[in-house]
Amino acid sequence: MTYVQKILEKLHRENPHEAEFLQAATGILTALEPVVERNPQWEEAGLLERFVEPERIICFRVPWVDDAGRVQVNKGYLVQFNSAIGPYKGGLRFHPSVNLSVLKFLGMEQTLKNSLTSLPMGGGKGGSDFDPKDKSEAEIMRFCQSFMCELYRHLGENSEVPAGDIGVGAREIGYMFGMYKRLKGSFDAGVFTGKGYSYGGSLGRPEATGYGLLFFLREALAVRGESVRGKKIIISGAGNVGIHAAEKAVSMGATVIAMSDSTGYIYNPNGIEVDKVKPYKMNRKTSLADYAAANPSVQFVPDPRQMWQIPCDVALPCATQNELDEASAEALIRGGVMAVCEGANMPSTPKAIECFRRNKIIFAPGKAANAGGVAVSGLEMSQNSQRLHWTKEEVLAKLEQIMITIHNSCLSAAEEYGYGQDYVIGANIAGFLKVADAMMAEGVC
Ligand code: NDP
Repeated sequence: MTYVQKILEKLHRENPHEAEFLQAATGILTALEPVVERNPQWEEAGLLERFVEPERIICFRVPWVDDAGRVQVNKGYLVQFNSAIGPYKGGLRFHPSVNLSVLKFLGMEQTLKNSLTSLPMGGGKGGSDFDPKDKSEAEIMRFCQSFMCELYRHLGENSEVPAGDIGVGAREIGYMFGMYKRLKGSFDAGVFTGKGYSYGGSLGRPEATGYGLLFFLREALAVRGESVRGKKIIISGAGNVGIHAAEKAVSMGATVIAMSDSTGYIYNPNGIEVDKVKPYKMNRKTSLADYAAANPSVQFVPDPRQMWQIPCDVALPCATQNELDEASAEALIRGGVMAVCEGANMPSTPKAIECFRRNKIIFAPGKAANAGGVAVSGLEMSQNSQRLHWTKEEVLAKLEQIMITIHNSCLSAAEEYGYGQDYVIGANIAGFLKVADAMMAEGVC
């Protein structure tokens, strides 16, 4: 049994109910086999045993009062996964599916993603099973304030710096930062990223993940002598990542022919007018179903999973974990897809990934392709430390450069180990090497 197999066996034995965490850990550790084999000193140092175990997990109750005066209680979590290369950094997610398994998988992924950005950020993730969707503005504010009453004690510019994720945008960050400030009695701008511009946010942060995804796609296509221009693209998820990916795709000369949200997907073979869809989704009140009802030029199908049946050149899953399964991957391949880049975290199931790799489809895993968001969060931290604001052009130019660097370091790591353009192997190895080096340097702690 190899060292990696021993660790995986231990993880499965100890965490039998954490399906998402086991899925992510298996994907990561399996991809690391070639580099682990070359570094036998890691086993002696118990490196993988330490890497797979979060440094700290905090669970807490979040009581709040709804508009009808009833007491509600949600679960709150913070997973501080790995601080070997910097303060814990990752998003907060508010969604009914949030549990420890989901946050541990996201924290582990985040650790490698943050390392890939080449900025000094460790990995973490937090959130709650609270569902902001059917709540009033006042309820969301009360929830965020209660959540922060516990979370604030764990935050710090040099220890834990959260951002947004599913269900947490600038509005929620604003409410949480306001409460943090009151509790601490101090304006520590650097404890949150994804803030509004007026109180220390970075220009370009809302667009960063989606734009970064397109920069990565451009680089990956270029390796095969292709470009984004003229490609037919389908995008799942019409939230922060999906909408900005669509916007950038159009500006690069591609045609976005389909997009989905949780209500279904819209399709127009001549291209969707992304600028008209955007207000429907950014207000967080209306859906693609509402857009389709007002725009008969698009077809609407009330099942988002069916979107993968549409023939296209490029697919960008930007919604949520495990949204793209093996049958969907096969449908995409039948439809002529040449590249799949993950805007979401772990949207493709292991069998779907296997299918893409077997068929030599360009496949870019989320930890590399969607790293633009956390990269600009890192730039927001730098601006906060300097007490300066950079222009949007400056931020986006730095983002583009970071995405090119991430792409190239994944490619070189894959090539060095004999895996050609395999971004799954490349991203995991390139991300892990820096973390491993720092963990070896700090000794057993
Ligand atoms: P949002 O909450 O802004 O948007 C999520 C979108 O996905 C919504 O449009 C939602 O629809 C849709 N959706 C949910 N489930 C499905 C489904 N089964 N099929 C199709 N669409 C669905 O989240 P983000 O855009 O911020 O995040 C999306 C993903 O990207 C997550 O995996 C996140 O972890 C990852 N990510 C986000 C980053 C960021 O900067 N925000 C950074 C890196 C990764 P509806 O509106 O109807 O609910």
